Amino acid sequence: MSHFHFFDQRLETLPREQLRALQTERLGRLLREMSANRFYAAKFAAAGLRREEILTLDDLQKIPFTTKSDLVADQAAAPPYGTLLSYPLSRYTHLHQTSGTTGRPLLWLDTKEDWADSWLRCWGFVYRGAGVTENDIIYFAYSFGPYVSHWAAIEGARNMGALTIAGGGLSSEQRLRAILDRRCTVLLCTPTYALHLIEVARRESIDLRSSAIRVTIHAGEPGASVPNVKRAIEDGWGAHCYDHAGATEVGAWGFGCEARTGAMHLNETDFFFEVIDPATLRPAAEGQRGELVITTLARPGMPVLRYRTGDLVEMVTSPCACGRTLARIQGGVIGRADDMLIVRGTNLYPSAIDNLVRSLPFILEYEVEIRRVSGMDDLRFRIEAADLPSGDPAQTLVEAFRAQFNIRIGVECVPAGALPRYEAKARRFKRIPDPPLSERL
Ligand SMILES: [Zn+2]
Repeated sequence: MSHFHFFDQRLETLPREQLRALQTERLGRLLREMSANRFYAAKFAAAGLRREEILTLDDLQKIPFTTKSDLVADQAAAPPYGTLLSYPLSRYTHLHQTSGTTGRPLLWLDTKEDWADSWLRCWGFVYRGAGVTENDIIYFAYSFGPYVSHWAAIEGARNMGALTIAGGGLSSEQRLRAILDRRCTVLLCTPTYALHLIEVARRESIDLRSSAIRVTIHAGEPGASVPNVKRAIEDGWGAHCYDHAGATEVGAWGFGCEARTGAMHLNETDFFFEVIDPATLRPAAEGQRGELVITTLARPGMPVLRYRTGDLVEMVTSPCACGRTLARIQGGVIGRADDMLIVRGTNLYPSAIDNLVRSLPFILEYEVEIRRVSGMDDLRFRIEAADLPSGDPAQTLVEAFRAQFNIRIGVECVPAGALPRYEAKARRFKRIPDPPLSERL
């Protein structure tokens, strides 16, 4: 008997050729459910394709990619929900939206069946992957806004039989008190907020390491797969920290496992994954960095076929030490294709910067302004730092960047509490737009 937990051990350990057969069958069922889907009818017609021609996973390659801007344009042209619905509106029971950080939020509908068969199931994989069971008491330290992950996470936990506590509408101090008093064993929040709670506990002289929390599960930012962020969370909470990945348009598609190799599993029972070179759009080789493309096999109400996530990953299909045959992405989501910075000829992702900053524990919080100067990105940091017995915090950060990336950065120290703390997705990286031409002349 292995000591690893599974949600559906048979499916999670299927030989890969049987897994492909399962995906092929689910793809066929999905396409049949999509007969009234106007968005894909138009996309297929534009490509000169008939639905009946798509019989295998290889045939999927004939379908053009779907991008977020396709979906935004569709909802703008046919408000409020666009043309991606496979069923009449009366069949849907759940409406959520994206955060809209890059523009107009997308509205997303689920039927009762899609909610149960996709969201609740997929969260089962996330929890069991992290060794969470029906005996756990799970605290959800976020606001319960219009975002699908907030609701899917708590209902997925209830579906599994765990005791769940919603921590919406409370201060950080009240949440910490609840976590301790109710002997919660599992914490869900963003990685940034887990670090913030550590800071608050320290201020209030609360010993988090002696709390009952044994597992923390994070999403919304790549933090839990960034080694130094993960270490800071694990040290502060005295718990094992797990990453998870999902998107409103897709579902909860990635999860960590108890082998704790630093990789995330891909839920290939509910989704079909491809990795492409974002420049050529050709398939990337095994293990090669590329953009993750997802087809939702089990969410027919509002499906996406070959959806370009913008997430950069390195996918491998060798079996994991936990026994799962599901593919993995090494180091989780490495970055977003459009977030890459080019600093003095060096390609840098925000997660690499975060990893370096978090190796310097005297930096309590930080923010980066990115300016484009003669085609290169220039980084200016603002940091809140604890006093150092010797040496200057700003200079130490400058030297760490020079040593690790061979780049020069600007650093300004600001007073404690001057920078924002985040409960939802942190926005530490701020791109400063180019000044208008008239100001440059
Ligand atoms: Zn594993």
